[in-house]
Amino acid sequence: MEASGGLLYRGDRAILATMHAKEKVVAPIAERFLGLRLEVARGVDTDAFGTFSRDIERVGSQLDAARAKIEAAFERMPDLRLALASEGSFGPHPYIPFCPLEREIVVLVDRRSGLELVGHHATPDTNFAHVVVADNAGGLDFAERVGFPDHGVIVMGCRDGQPAHHLGLFKDVETWDDLTSALHRVIAKAGTAFVETDMRAHRNPRRMRAIKRATIDLVRRARSLCPACGRPGYAVTERLPGLPCSWCGEPTLLIRASVQSCVGCGWRVERAVEAAAAEPRHCGECNP
Ligand SMILES: [Zn+2]
Ligand SMILES: [Zn+2]
Repeated sequence: MEASGGLLYRGDRAILATMHAKEKVVAPIAERFLGLRLEVARGVDTDAFGTFSRDIERVGSQLDAARAKIEAAFERMPDLRLALASEGSFGPHPYIPFCPLEREIVVLVDRRSGLELVGHHATPDTNFAHVVVADNAGGLDFAERVGFPDHGVIVMGCRDGQPAHHLGLFKDVETWDDLTSALHRVIAKAGTAFVETDMRAHRNPRRMRAIKRATIDLVRRARSLCPACGRPGYAVTERLPGLPCSWCGEPTLLIRASVQSCVGCGWRVERAVEAAAAEPRHCGECNP
């Protein structure tokens, strides 16, 4: 990416709604490649929109959560034009068994133009994991495997194999001594401890890296302009299944085309994939 020319903004002030030091990775990129002057929101409690340690449940989608953070920043600052927020989610990989997948989004909203840009990054390179232990040794082993103390862990009470934070919740475990005493106290009270990786950005360097990649994707989208109206954010929005079978010509589930579209003016271009037909093994008729 070039830093010169084509910047979307000219030193405009933008607020990043975060409490977890995400500005470390987001600010330099937003400044250099988008021309934004980034400040961290003061007094916006982003944890109110859901935390990974489940003491506050997140409602709605990942994008809803990011939008809610941005909305909160706008409410507090009526003159503010631009705000950013990021949101992560972790869960099982849709195709690879026993493999976790992390999805990060970074959202930019321009209240004056109505522009909303969403940068994405998905990666299996995450330490998202948990373990239930009945003694300190098991907890310490797990911590070592997931990269503690560079990567944080959270120690919670446990009931029936599920986290039960009313039986203990230690979120800011910094040292091996802290960890030993947290495990000891939780196990004494609950019998077992639920130990999981801390997915808050400031305690998870891998996550920080993924947020950086999502920010770079946001820049890429900001620079992709609609050929009809010039609005930023022109991107692939849809993939259409139905590549015909090479034997019988029936449509298969394989992608036949991708669609690029503009939310501003509705301009839409369908681009066919390179393959002209699908192998019969993907066909429901020829290979049921
Ligand atoms: Zn357009
Ligand atoms: Zn067929």
